[in-house]
Amino acid sequence: MDKKLQNTLREKLEAELKEVEKELRSVGRINPSNPKDWEAMPDRLDIVTADPNEVADGIESYEGNTAILKQLETRYNEIKAALQQMKNNGYGICHVCKNVIEPARLLANPAATTCQTHM
Ligand SMILES: [Zn+2]
Repeated sequence: MDKKLQNTLREKLEAELKEVEKELRSVGRINPSNPKDWEAMPDRLDIVTADPNEVADGIESYEGNTAILKQLETRYNEIKAALQQMKNNGYGICHVCKNVIEPARLLANPAATTCQTHM
C-alpha cells in the first residue's frame, strides 16, 4: 500500500479511536476485572426517594447505554484491530479473497476488513 495513503488512514483510525473512547467513557467504564471489556454505567438512582417513574426511566437509560456501549465497543475493537494489522503489515487485505481492499473503501471506513465485493 501507498505510504501516504496508509498514513492518512492511520491518522483517521487514531482520531476515530479517540472519539470512540471518549464516547465509551460517557456511557460506560472499563470492567475492573477485565481491562478489555467495557460495561455500561447505570444511571445513579436514588432508590429511597425516587418515585417509580424515575426508577423506570433509569432502567430504560441503562438499557439504552448498554446498546450504545455494545456498538461503540464493536467499533473500538475494529479500529484497534486495524491499527494492529498496520503494525503487522497485514492491513488493507480482504479477509475473504485476500485481495487488496479498494482505497476508496478504506477512506470511507479505514477499519474495513473486506473488499467492496465481500462487504
Ligand atoms: Zn474480497
